Amino acid sequence: MSNPSILILAGDGIGPEVMDEVKKIMGWFDAKRGLKFDLSEGLVGGAAYDAHGTPLTDETMAKAQEVDAVLLGAVGGPKYDDLDFSVKPERGLLRLRKEMDLFANLRPAQCFDALADFSSLKKELVSGLDIMIVRELTSGSYFGEPRGIFEENGERVGINTQRYTESEIDRVARSAFELARKRDNRLCSVEKANVMESGILWREVVSKIGAEDYPDVELSHMYADNCAMQLVRTPKQFDVIVTDNLFGDILSDCAAMLTGSLGMLPSASLGVPMENGRPKAMYEPVHGSAPDISGQGLANPSACVLSFAMALRYSFDQGAEADRLEAAVEQVLADGTRTADLMQAAGGKPASTSEMGDAIVKALEASL
Ligand code: NAD
Repeated sequence: MSNPSILILAGDGIGPEVMDEVKKIMGWFDAKRGLKFDLSEGLVGGAAYDAHGTPLTDETMAKAQEVDAVLLGAVGGPKYDDLDFSVKPERGLLRLRKEMDLFANLRPAQCFDALADFSSLKKELVSGLDIMIVRELTSGSYFGEPRGIFEENGERVGINTQRYTESEIDRVARSAFELARKRDNRLCSVEKANVMESGILWREVVSKIGAEDYPDVELSHMYADNCAMQLVRTPKQFDVIVTDNLFGDILSDCAAMLTGSLGMLPSASLGVPMENGRPKAMYEPVHGSAPDISGQGLANPSACVLSFAMALRYSFDQGAEADRLEAAVEQVLADGTRTADLMQAAGGKPASTSEMGDAIVKALEASL
């Protein structure tokens, strides 16, 4: 049987720098844990535009459809700010999400104890925090028609449409129920059924699936505005949250910041299962290409490393190895090795991107 395959798209700015550390870690898993992957690499974003005049070639898109998982670094940078919208680096990313039909965006908000001081909330509120937000990614008000700016009664009107079909709600809800089963078995579904019909339908569909197919999962419902309040009041009350594209965009950023630095935040976007049963999947750090620090060895590779841990868990059924990698990152932080973005509380000399990667490999070695 052939090895599972990964397409690496390192992208722009700090993307290639943090991806180098992930490659080191993949090398360790290959040598020490027998985890072999067929790796291929491609260009995305500004790097692809520079080489081919497009942020994603058809060949790279086709490769992304074939592999078991795509691991992406980051795209963008000031050099590309004046490009036409159709060839901007971000268009490469959007094309991948759209054509792979990645409808479930998983954003964990996990607070490592060693970083609890970095949160804007009190340490006791966030220490040990472990939430997963599942955001619907391919429908809702960012895609619904009609949309546009129109002339009406002598003035302009801006229109976007919040629109969800039952099947769109069904598939993202099922992904969230499955995730809840692998975690603490609790799911909170978030909408605004009090004022929006799309929210009423959302609640009905999620409730039906819960009652019929996931009676073992504890399901609750919450309005989105209350959820925003609860996230900053008592975030640890949540396990898995499932919500639509617009609310998910806002709530996942809010939850992410409970944990401190952008350099620590991974994400996964999952689609429908392929023939081999694995969901189509792309894993990427939440951060961008950080042009202010790129090329200086200052980037924190943890978000990209933790994205690979998510790939181990959700694409390759290697939950125990994902736990091992997450524990290694936590150990490195607890030992006081920090990149500059995590320094303000710790003080001392910051670790470089590659020193952080080396420290993670060392912690992995010590885990054997
Ligand atoms: P950014 O995430 O690149 O950077 C925001 C701040 O966080 C910067 O000060 C940066 O130095 C810091 N930072 C980010 N990642 C870090 C890391 N791993 N280690 C240490 N510090 C880190 O956001 P931005 O500055 O708004 O955007 C820069 C470019 O990235 C833009 O072109 C934007 O369009 C693009 N972008 C891409 C993605 C993506 O590829 N998914 C996401 C967001 C922004």
